[in-house]
Amino acid sequence: MRQFDTRTQSPIVSRRAATPKKSPWREDLRRAFRRPCDLLEFLELPCHLANGSPEPDFPMLVPREFAARMEPGNRQDPLLLQVLPERVETQSVPGFVADPVGDKDSRQARGLLHKYAGRVLLITTGACAVHCRYCFRQEFPYSTDHAGSDQWRAAVDYIRSRADVYEVILSGGDPLMLSTGQLSSLTDQLAEIDHVRRLRLHTRLPIVLPARVDDRLCHWIASLPWPVAIVVHANHAREFDPQVDRAMARLRKAGASLFNQSVLLAGINDTANALTELMERSFSAHVVPYYLHMLDRVRGTARFDCDRQQALALHEAMRARLSGYLVPRLVREEAGAPYKLPVL
Ligand SMILES: *Cc1c(COP(=O)(O)O)cnc(C)c1O
Repeated sequence: MRQFDTRTQSPIVSRRAATPKKSPWREDLRRAFRRPCDLLEFLELPCHLANGSPEPDFPMLVPREFAARMEPGNRQDPLLLQVLPERVETQSVPGFVADPVGDKDSRQARGLLHKYAGRVLLITTGACAVHCRYCFRQEFPYSTDHAGSDQWRAAVDYIRSRADVYEVILSGGDPLMLSTGQLSSLTDQLAEIDHVRRLRLHTRLPIVLPARVDDRLCHWIASLPWPVAIVVHANHAREFDPQVDRAMARLRKAGASLFNQSVLLAGINDTANALTELMERSFSAHVVPYYLHMLDRVRGTARFDCDRQQALALHEAMRARLSGYLVPRLVREEAGAPYKLPVL
């Protein structure tokens, strides 16, 4: 299987070399949709509705399991709109830039971002199982700056040297694109650092490729010496299905606490009904809503932007309808800010 860096399409060699045997979920990934026409045909839509450049810098990638939750015949399906490339992505829009959240400035070691007190974020790999068109790290220089496989020595050294870091967040890309063996070799190294108290995973795989939540992964999670938080990423109620429910149940059984973060996306979840249903559906899988992010204004994502007034009105509507613990924090990220800022 070839894994592409999201920007340069160069193979991430270290990842491939360190992945000895195929798991069923890797086979699922190999069969993912990579051409807009194929996905549209699967959805019984004419190929001419594909409106993206054939070789975008950020190629299409959609697992079949995820595509199966889309509504056939609906070009405006909220799951489809998240992943289908559109020609407008290549137009430049003022205010939409390469690194709006200042990730490059908070880099402390290869693949390590230390932006907020007490926690660091490790870019473990550039690979993802799905390419979301609104991705805020689509411009991140993954091929040279992820801490994959044998290359996280510098990141681990940094964490060891900083007694004020007590939480390590494995992110990416998607950390669950690594093999469980690679993940456990990383956590073995972290386990030797006394001041690390908890582990967090930021992953979309339990949603888009629930088969990734296999026995080995659950054993690894259950074996970790810290409380584990898993923050998944779903933007619409229909991203949950019985397979996803089963994956979440297994993660919970392995001892993880489950949260969801979403992005407020125009045309996808920017109504009170869509958001309320998402939060309700998320908790029916025992996943607690965590953040609702304002879109990071990355180049090529302008069509998803919602304005602040509308976001505040939607947040208010959720408050009026949902149990308090089901209302996510509405936040935006600002380069240089000490935390994700509440939208006011
Ligand atoms: C979002 C983020 C975190 C985590 O922030 P929380 O508010 O704890 O969820 C940590 N580091 C970086 C670089 C982030 O972008």
